[in-house]
Amino acid sequence: MNRGIKIKNIPCHECITSCCSEFTVFLSPCDMFRIHKALKLEMKDFITATRFTKENLSYSPYAFSLGGKERYLLSLKRKRNHCIFLMRIGKQGRCGIHGFRPNVCRSYPFSSETGSLKRASQMICPTAWTISKIMAAKSLSVFSHMKNEFFSFQAFLDTWHAVELPKIKKNQIGKIESANQVFMKFLDFLFRMIIAERMKKTAW
Ligand code: SF4
Ligand code: SF4
Repeated sequence: MNRGIKIKNIPCHECITSCCSEFTVFLSPCDMFRIHKALKLEMKDFITATRFTKENLSYSPYAFSLGGKERYLLSLKRKRNHCIFLMRIGKQGRCGIHGFRPNVCRSYPFSSETGSLKRASQMICPTAWTISKIMAAKSLSVFSHMKNEFFSFQAFLDTWHAVELPKIKKNQIGKIESANQVFMKFLDFLFRMIIAERMKKTAW
């Protein structure tokens, strides 16, 4: 949930953080960059490419190719069946990157497809949420950021598919690169695009 909302006032307070185990966390490059910057971690250490399937149809505009038939989504790595950043404290769980966690984590368990706040269709919280006015306003602001950031991501992907990937394929003649090698190039490409956006001050 959002910054400014006290955890003791929301159901997460007494939860075993099922959401951090149940779902794969899909990211925008901005989420990725914020984590990288805050933790000084290499992107490849916490980011992976998750195969795009029909279960993730709502993320289809953000699916990318690594040169083969498969499409992938940018996501946080997992370990022992939960998000790599989940810390277990006894039976409870806490986010290890709470201040700069991805926007999808910040907004869960709500969605905003129509511009107003709704409970997410796959809501797994053990306790019902009461949405206060302040919570609704903060959540809608997260959705607005998220929309802008994913919009930039789509533009990056257009360049990746139209310019960068064909260039990589052309240079590959005679040596076949694995999907993982191409993914490392994709992360480098996203990093360069984010830095360029930041220099233009058009985002973040
Ligand atoms: S499952 Fe729901 S209540 Fe539990 S941590 Fe996640 S958002 Fe909070
Ligand atoms: S980043 Fe934090 S809130 Fe999001 S799934 Fe991982 S541990 Fe949970």
